[in-house]
Amino acid sequence: LLVSLAVLFSGIAIFISYLMSKRSMIPIKRAYTKQNQFTADVSHELRTPLSVLLSSIDVLEMEVESGSEERDDYSRKLISNMRDEVKRMTKMVGDLLTLARSDSNQIELMRETFDFCPHVQKIIQSFKPLAEEKGIKLHIHAPQTLIVNGDLERLKQLLYILLDNAIKYTTDGGEVNITISMKDWDHHPTLNIQVQDTGIGISQEDQKNIFDRFYRVDKARTRQMGGHGLGLAIAKWIVEAHKGSIQVSSKLGEGSTFTIKIPQSSIK
Ligand code: ADP
Repeated sequence: LLVSLAVLFSGIAIFISYLMSKRSMIPIKRAYTKQNQFTADVSHELRTPLSVLLSSIDVLEMEVESGSEERDDYSRKLISNMRDEVKRMTKMVGDLLTLARSDSNQIELMRETFDFCPHVQKIIQSFKPLAEEKGIKLHIHAPQTLIVNGDLERLKQLLYILLDNAIKYTTDGGEVNITISMKDWDHHPTLNIQVQDTGIGISQEDQKNIFDRFYRVDKARTRQMGGHGLGLAIAKWIVEAHKGSIQVSSKLGEGSTFTIKIPQSSIK
């Protein structure tokens, strides 16, 4: 009896350890699937502009060989398209590089203490022509000065991404509000940034995914606008590197609000 009990228990032990090892493989498998998806997304994103470039080059080559002068305008248009595609790819490769470096902890924040307001004003000024083109009103709500501790270049990049999206996804005649303030959060001074728009909005389901790499609600539409679905992934990394949080609240057809909180522990 003792022998059969020992055999039974060791059988159970082997079975349990088999189950445990299977379970412990789950995160590895998930990471592997994620990595595969990421590689597939990158390849797909690069293939489209590359095939546009290749076919434009083919047509241009034929134009040059035939020497038909009346088609100069068409050639110029092709060259301009090629330039746009190259710019698009350059931006995407730059964004990917930022994310890859952030993954391997190769980017260190350059923390300093500065007045954020003049920088915010400058960024908003740079978006004015784009907003005016679409008849979008840009409003800023900020104090005269706001002393902030953080990586200035990264915080500017963060604001740039959020404003670019707010204008991109707001229909003509809408409104974008930017609010910057310092508030006490759990008794700690906290930098608050809010970018609110009256744009197309994001469904509850999509809100869960928009911070993922390459995620776009409407792929065809955002590609036309020059988006790759990497902006919010970078925004999330910048905020988390500052030990802060980023949240979205939105209603389809009514608009979206992105709220960022960055603790200011090192401000004296
Ligand atoms: P993209 O370069 O495509 O804009 P992002 O990572 O910045 O990439 O955004 C991911 C997706 O989230 C966008 O493709 C868009 O569908 C959605 N999105 C982001 N910001 C907004 C916004 N303010 N209003 C509506 N949709 C938005």
